[in-house]
This record gives sequence, C-alpha cells and structure tokens, in this order.
Amino acid sequence: MNLLPPAATRAHPVWLRVGTLLDGSAGPPLRNAHIVYDCDEIKFVGADGRTPPPEILRPGQTAPDLDAPEATLLPGLTDAHAHLFLEGGEMDPAKRAAYLRQTPAEFLAHARARLAPLVRLGITAVRDAGDRHGVGLTLQKLSSEPGRPLMPFVESPGAAIFHRGRYGAFMAGAIEDYPTPRACVEARIAAGAGRIKLIPTGIINFKAGAVTSEPQMTVEEIAQLGAAAKSLGRQTFAHASGDTGIERVIMAGVDSVEHGYFVTDDQLALMRDRQTAWVPTFAPLQAQLDHTAALGWDAAVQDNLRRILDDHASSLAKAHALGVIIVAGSDAGSCGVPHGLGLLRELELLERAGLPPLAVIHTATGAGAARFVYQEKFGRIAPGWRSRFILTCHSSLDTVANLRQPRTVVFDGDVFSAGENAGPAGL
Ligand SMILES: [Zn+2]
Repeated sequence: MNLLPPAATRAHPVWLRVGTLLDGSAGPPLRNAHIVYDCDEIKFVGADGRTPPPEILRPGQTAPDLDAPEATLLPGLTDAHAHLFLEGGEMDPAKRAAYLRQTPAEFLAHARARLAPLVRLGITAVRDAGDRHGVGLTLQKLSSEPGRPLMPFVESPGAAIFHRGRYGAFMAGAIEDYPTPRACVEARIAAGAGRIKLIPTGIINFKAGAVTSEPQMTVEEIAQLGAAAKSLGRQTFAHASGDTGIERVIMAGVDSVEHGYFVTDDQLALMRDRQTAWVPTFAPLQAQLDHTAALGWDAAVQDNLRRILDDHASSLAKAHALGVIIVAGSDAGSCGVPHGLGLLRELELLERAGLPPLAVIHTATGAGAARFVYQEKFGRIAPGWRSRFILTCHSSLDTVANLRQPRTVVFDGDVFSAGENAGPAGL
C-alpha cells in the first residue's frame, strides 16, 4: 500500500495513525498509535487509539493524513561505528590500497556522495569512528549547519589516538606528537572532535585465530586520556579486542568498548556494573567469512573465523541477558562492509546471535541515544524528538531483515521512498 505521508512543515504539521509504533525505547511496541509531527520535531504520540488534541493539528483537521493500520513506524537508524572516509563495498585489496592513497579532498568527495543514499536507506545518524584526513570533522560541521544537504546527523572524533608504529595509522594520529595525553585530547577537541576515539589494542590475527599483539596502551594511559576527555565534556570510545586489552579499557573507565572480540563473561558483568556500552561489530568479521574466496582464506582461517563469530554471538546473548548496554555499529568502510547496507547486515547478525528483533532495533535507536547523548535528539519517537523515522508494511518485529523491504523514510518532515536497495557501489 501507499505509505507516503505529505511533507511536514512548520505551518503544516502531519498526523499519522499506524498499527504498530516502536518508540526506540526498550519498552513494548505501541499499538494503534497516533503521531503528529512537523519539520522540527514530534509533537504528539498516543497509543491504543488515543488521538491528538485539536490545538496541535491544522485548523479543521479531523482525520489523520495517513491511516495505515498494517504499517510499523520506528525511529531512523543510527550506525554508531562507521568510517565515512572509507569505501566498504570495495573488496579488491589492490583497489583498497589505491583508494587509501587519495587526497583529503578526494576522500571528502566520496564520503559526501554517500550521505543522501544513507538517509534513503533509513540510516539517519552516523557516529564516525575516526579518520586522519578530517573527513568526519568536515561532515560533522556540515551536518550542524542550517540548510545542510540531505545527510544523516554525523558526529566525528577526528583522528583516533594511537601509538606510532602500532595498529591504526590509517585512521589515527600519534599520541607521541604531544607532550602529555591531556595535550593530545585537547588538540583533538580544538580540531572539533565530538568524542574521543582511542585505539588501545591491535586487531585479530585471522591465521592464529586470536589477538596476538600486546595492547598498545596501559590502563594508566587510557585512564588519563579518558579523564582529560571527560573534564572537557567528551565521552571516550575505545577499539578493543582480546581479553587483556578489553580488561584495560573497562578498568580505565571508557564509555564504550568497540568490537570487543574475546570478551570474557566476567568482563561482561563488569561492563554491566560500570554502564560501559558494547558495540560488537559482527559485520566486518562476517564479511571475511562471506568473501573467503575473494580474500584467499584457507580452511583453517575459515574455521577460526567461524569459531570467533560463534563465541562472539554467545557473548552477545550473555550480555543481553546480563543487561549490558548494547549499541549497533557496523564498522562500515571495513573490507566488505558497505555504508548503510552494512548496518542492515549488522542488525541481522545481532538477531541471528539471539537478540529478539525489538532488542535489535533498540541497539540502533534509543540505546545509543541514551548512553552516547548526541547533540541532536534522534533515535526515539516521543514529543520533542526529531521527526526522523521509517514507515514500513513489512514488520521488523517478525525479523529485522524486513528493514531491507520497501519503506518510506521521513527526515525532518521530508518524505523519501526507498524501493529495492541498490547495490553497494560507492558505499
Ligand atoms: Zn572501526
């Protein structure tokens, strides 16, 4: 059926009725729900047939602009871990290497071209996870300007922080460039960082099936960086895989563990107690397994990948049962993880790992909004929050894979129809 509401403006608020409304909280779905919004914000949400008060409607309006009992309405999705300067759809190693040799202006042009398609896919906010070319910072600035082009909200840490000579050079700047950890954090914030990204560990050695390098930062160092960030009003997110490094970032008090491969059960309990969020990023590892032929992985590596993904899935189920704050992030830009489509894939992987669809949607909407406290109010459907949501006749409570089905995206009152998904080219 036609799920195209009229465009909403300040003078022309829009009233919808839908069969199911997911408000982005961890609470149950609202049924037979009414919503009124304009281009700035949501004005009213009523469940169980509760209709809006006439004074917030257009003069004389007595019925919804769209009455869709079979439709589900849910917040636009947030990708809480993506690298907008990178192109994830590209698999060829030589082409990926050549891509990395571009100028900052070229990176920026590619990234800008991804923004409108992301909104059309239903991804209305991106927490960038770092680049050393200023792409994320430029997009963050653009997204806060009046009259911005069609683009998701973007927040960026600028360059991540790492130790020279260790993992992360393609997206990070070295702590050695500054006399103290605090000076390094101050420089990031002076450049515009909305959050501080740390790289305290290396990555998984697929051939060994483990993280084989020692963490690159000590607990004291991570704690100093985090404390400096906190004193300047910024949260800290930390790339961490391998139980030794994960232990360090939790003990140092970072706001979120990114990736978290090889997390232990005790560490999950600690994360729950300390309100440390977890962004588990299944998609980049799953992509390695999905493209083994192209990547040349032998049977032993494939076995390692399968085992690591299975362990990660069982940790996710435990984390959910414990009450750890879980937030969805795709690591888009990684090999085989296109922007936008990669987040839809990540949500499917979270569901496959055992999270109920409603919990999966919470990870990409209200969970991050509550824990990460972005500069704009998105990720919830409630009065005062931005008018950014998805309308679909394919229930995402049956499976989040239905988020790939045709859907309508409303972004600050403007309406976009997303039919069949295009391929990953350029994403
Ligand atoms: Zn990343």
